[in-house]
Amino acid sequence: MVWLEDEQATLELAAKLAALLPDSAFCIHLKGDLGAGKTTFVRGLLNALGHSGKVKSPTYTLVEHYQLNARDIYHFDLYRLAAPEELLYLGIEDYFSTNALSLIEWPEQGTGVLPEPDLLISLKYQTSGREVIFTAYSEAASDICDKLHN
Ligand code: ADP
Ligand code: MG
Repeated sequence: MVWLEDEQATLELAAKLAALLPDSAFCIHLKGDLGAGKTTFVRGLLNALGHSGKVKSPTYTLVEHYQLNARDIYHFDLYRLAAPEELLYLGIEDYFSTNALSLIEWPEQGTGVLPEPDLLISLKYQTSGREVIFTAYSEAASDICDKLHN
């Protein structure tokens, strides 16, 4: 568990993670209640990867595409997904078949259709600050977690 005192701490941890991500396909699931800081974390990642504009929550469009340093990045917000099968209409196979980085908020909503993540980031709302727990599901993610915690 890592304690994130304020928004700045969330952005800094995300930037640290960004520097460790592989160039190959990598999928991150972000879990946590509304306001837990999932989108803030994604903004920290995207900014560190070179995105300078705003990061809008794709609450209605479900997915927002970025291309940074010739790498495809897909930011999903599945909060409003009515059923996992809806994802099939988005053609999600394409998103996960290339060297894309996928950042998925509310992955619970896509259970059964979404691929398993490499890395799960669970954010927990506290009165002030947030708690974050990383869970690695691949060897690549496990290496990253070791480096993050040192
Ligand atoms: P989510 O996407 O999980 O719904 P957001 O990132 O949109 O959450 O919003 C989180 C809110 O909490 C933002 O107002 C952000 O400034 C704030 N926040 C993010 N990280 C922290 C933190 N570590 N401590 C306190 N507030 C934070
Ligand atoms: Mg969000």
